[in-house]
Amino acid sequence: MRYGDVVEVYEQLAKTSKRLEKTYLLSQFLKIIPVAEMEHVLLLVQGRIFPAWDQRVIGMATQLVVKTLALSSGAEQDVIDAIWQKTGDLGETAFQLAGKKRQATLFAQELTTKKVFDNLRKLATLEGMGVVQAKQQLVVELLTSATPLEAKYLVRTVLEDLRVGLGEGTLRDAIAWAFLTDAPYDVAKKELTLDDAQREEYAKLMGDVQYAINLTNDLATVTRTAKEQGRAGLQNITLNAQTPLKVMLYPKAQSIADAFEIVGKPAAFEYKYDGFRMQIHKKEGKVTIFTRSLEDVTAQFPEVVKLVQERIKASTFILDGEAVGFDVKTKKYVAFQNISQRIKRKYDITELAAKLPVELNLFDVISLEGKNLLQEPFSERRKILLTLLDQEPFKIRLAEQVITDNDADAEAFYQRSLAAGNEGIMVKSLSGAYVPGARVGQGVKVKPTMETLDVVIVGAEWGEGKRGQWLATFIIAVRDPDTGELLEIGRVGTGFKEKEEEAVDGGVTFQKMTDVLRPLIVSTEGRVVMVQPKLVLEIKYEEIQASPTYGSGYALRFPRFVRLREDRGPEDVHTIQDVEQLYAGQRSRGKGI
Ligand code: AMP
Repeated sequence: MRYGDVVEVYEQLAKTSKRLEKTYLLSQFLKIIPVAEMEHVLLLVQGRIFPAWDQRVIGMATQLVVKTLALSSGAEQDVIDAIWQKTGDLGETAFQLAGKKRQATLFAQELTTKKVFDNLRKLATLEGMGVVQAKQQLVVELLTSATPLEAKYLVRTVLEDLRVGLGEGTLRDAIAWAFLTDAPYDVAKKELTLDDAQREEYAKLMGDVQYAINLTNDLATVTRTAKEQGRAGLQNITLNAQTPLKVMLYPKAQSIADAFEIVGKPAAFEYKYDGFRMQIHKKEGKVTIFTRSLEDVTAQFPEVVKLVQERIKASTFILDGEAVGFDVKTKKYVAFQNISQRIKRKYDITELAAKLPVELNLFDVISLEGKNLLQEPFSERRKILLTLLDQEPFKIRLAEQVITDNDADAEAFYQRSLAAGNEGIMVKSLSGAYVPGARVGQGVKVKPTMETLDVVIVGAEWGEGKRGQWLATFIIAVRDPDTGELLEIGRVGTGFKEKEEEAVDGGVTFQKMTDVLRPLIVSTEGRVVMVQPKLVLEIKYEEIQASPTYGSGYALRFPRFVRLREDRGPEDVHTIQDVEQLYAGQRSRGKGI
């Protein structure tokens, strides 16, 4: 297949923001992909070279891409920088540079999807001496054969930032439209014309495709199956140990009473360990561990692999659990950030495992000896899990659980969980199925909500791409009442609106932020500006972490803008002591107080 065909669909997708139109365009494209090329073309369409769960990345820094563009176009670096600055997008920069040397490309070879894919994959595998030059060469080879439009998307793919607005939901619908239904899509009106009966059937069909995606995480397999075997083929797709499936997710309940309301009585209450999710597969003697985002982290947890090998009495299975860190001396659980470095660690893994040990808490079994257990009631799955496991505290065990229909017992369990250092509790329906990839309320979580923080903006960074004309990330600080100093505690860029019409009910656009802050700018360095500390924001966050990155010694995990506090000045923002207290509050749970 020509790379130009894929580029054409990118262009079409980028031109419309209408989901139905995107679906239609994509469904037409899916029909023309040859089955033998399904795998790599479907990845390319998503701007990927590896599936989402694959740890490998292209790993080419922006500056190296700039140098590569200089090499392939013959343009000076400052010319490239100027176009980049103006467009805020290296893809667009590549487009303009390629346009300038159009002559040369007339003689170049036509790019195929296979060639693009193979070269980009090689980028990720290169290691050792001369790797920078070798990487550049692979990209230059592609760029010199590329049309300007191909160059634009090549560069965006290399930078893993495709910007065509294509989500998994659209892909799912497009697969169904292409092969399973004559979706009554009115091309002129860009509408679906379904009556009530059709609507119900349509929803079921999309559900079938989504289910196949959730089980396999492999769009190529799902597309090929839909094309060759239709809906029945999709319904027959089943679990396969060593192929990760999406994990089940849990919505938040406001209280224990609320949780009972959602999952029914009696319910299973479990500790909500503050560690990381592990989906554990075993097949033909081999154990593989995937994270919640389905990254393979087997190499990082040799001690967990050993425990699974030795203490689970079965040969083929998929299990679900949470690995949680604990203090070796006090044997109290510690918060996620204490062990977070274990996930990415590539060296001295055994030493780190000894220093930061984890306990594996298993809470579900998804398949066993080739049997799919997704539809078994949770209470049955738990019983099966119990028979499989040779438990030992601080090594491997079943998640702590009680079953009750009583509010007081549930509340006591909640308090016990917090005191043991956990984040809260999970409340699960005894009859619930395991539903991959969805927050369907078969189980819910209950945890104490964090207080919001008032912070002041001390700096900001210009955005990229379509946010290029705005200040889009804001450096925030709390104050030290003793010295009057403002101490940075993080950066926030989430929770603001791009469009005026979205800025209702106190919503604030990037444009407004930019207008307010621009006159306050005191210095500029690259894309970062420092501003007079005037503007106060209320921020919510998942958690406070100790961090050497910022002046305050703390960082906020997943900060999100809540509202502007125009009624407050920099002297009213929270203090470093407030932050220390909140942090201690989190940690005291870790110390079992
Ligand atoms: P949250 O990350 O706040 O959405 O909470 C859900 C997460 O809690 C899951 O993805 C698991 O990683 C984690 N978790 C901890 N303990 C349990 C448990 N007993 N059952 C299910 N999930 C748990």
